[in-house]
Amino acid sequence: MKPIVAIVGRPNVGKSTLFNKLVGDRVAIVDDQPGVTRDRLYRETEWNGKEFVLVDTGGLEPRNNDFMMSKIKQQAEVAMNEADVILFVVDGKGGLNPLDEEIAYLLRKKNKPVVLCVNKIDNFLAQQDDVYDFWGLGFEHLVAISGEHKVNLGDMLDVVVDLV
Ligand code: GDP
Ligand code: MG
Repeated sequence: MKPIVAIVGRPNVGKSTLFNKLVGDRVAIVDDQPGVTRDRLYRETEWNGKEFVLVDTGGLEPRNNDFMMSKIKQQAEVAMNEADVILFVVDGKGGLNPLDEEIAYLLRKKNKPVVLCVNKIDNFLAQQDDVYDFWGLGFEHLVAISGEHKVNLGDMLDVVVDLV
């Protein structure tokens, strides 16, 4: 069995964009609105000869905010249970969000390796302060990336394959 690397995070942080860039395909639906990833997606990929299965965990993200939280928690829970490594994606442009804290809390309880990906850092020099806040979530591995512009994805994958 190949190790499983699951991408988790609140809606709209760029999980599906990142997934597509990493598997070299446009299978996951990307949209400005939360709630458009309809299925869990699994794709085999590799980095430096290490093969793993990448999972996009959009699932059913209801547009109704009352249900949003419980759904995200549910998905994070499923993803965390099946994953060997978790890519926890946050929006570096949007800043730290209470939902990020909720997910971080769930992840910490699992004792699985987490790589915190501070996404949408399209210009690192201009956005260093945006990245800094996320150290407060308390994860050992933090990488600033831009999924859309493929910035720092190699560094991120180096960290990931070290942990699988
Ligand atoms: P998901 O809901 O977490 O799967 O997020 P999506 O991949 O659907 O992306 C949500 C929005 O964020 C879309 O408008 C993307 O184009 C945008 N986005 C994703 N990655 C980046 C990035 O690295 N930089 C910027 N500036 N925008 C991004
Ligand atoms: Mg998505």
